[in-house]
Amino acid sequence: MNDIRLVTLENNKKTTIQVGNIRIGQDFVLIAGPCSVENEEHTLNIATAVKKAGANMLRGGAFKPRTSPYSFQGLGLKGLKILKKAQELTGMPIVSEVLDPRDVSWMCDYVDILQIGARNMQNFSLLKEVGKAERPVLLKRGMYSTISEWLSCAEYILKEGNSDVILCERGIRTFETYSRNTLDLSAVPAIKELSHLPIIVDPTHATGRVSLIPPMSLAAVVSRADGLIVEVHDNPEEALSDKDQALTPESFSEMADKIFRLRDFMKELN
Ligand code: PEP
Ligand code: MN
Repeated sequence: MNDIRLVTLENNKKTTIQVGNIRIGQDFVLIAGPCSVENEEHTLNIATAVKKAGANMLRGGAFKPRTSPYSFQGLGLKGLKILKKAQELTGMPIVSEVLDPRDVSWMCDYVDILQIGARNMQNFSLLKEVGKAERPVLLKRGMYSTISEWLSCAEYILKEGNSDVILCERGIRTFETYSRNTLDLSAVPAIKELSHLPIIVDPTHATGRVSLIPPMSLAAVVSRADGLIVEVHDNPEEALSDKDQALTPESFSEMADKIFRLRDFMKELN
């Protein structure tokens, strides 16, 4: 294990993070929304639909880390303004990715949780900057990273003074090609053994396939993950990013019902 100090579990004292009316780490959190914010109409549609289905928070990328520089890069500030409108309309807190350390402080006016994407997990200047921000940080696991390296990155954020870090398992690269990545669900109990930080699961980027998202979401609930983050699009075929892995609002709603029933069952099973 790398040199981890601040994130280590001691006396079974778990961190809970209050965002809106949810205490992440204590209450199960369901975050849903589009991969990218594309325009106002679709964002507000999706926000309304996921809220109706029971989501607690809205996700949506305004700055997109794309493999190709020619792919849609996100709407930037315009996208954040749309997210703010969605927040005003639905009351849901906003989760959005920050790519650049220079954007951290002003982005805090628009988002409730700053997401650090898998590709930036070890961007140490970005980690130091969000460590100084007054917003919780959702730290995704790097696609080639060990649990120990991931916790060291959380350590960077805590060391700067921000103790509100939520970890997110989003699949790692293996030799398997059927799924986009391989969901390492054992990371959930492993993190809970090693750290006091909450951990949620992203079954969307972990599988990259619509058909695999509901079963892996339920499996994540059974693993005692503190929540899920899922991509939903009102017209997946036309989505500007990650169209193969977006659930429709209808299939998200069906899945959410099962998630809540299983969550309640797991509460009983102690
Ligand atoms: C995303 O959440 O849209 C995203 C880019 O995720 P990841 O960083 O896990 O690939
Ligand atoms: Mn995506």
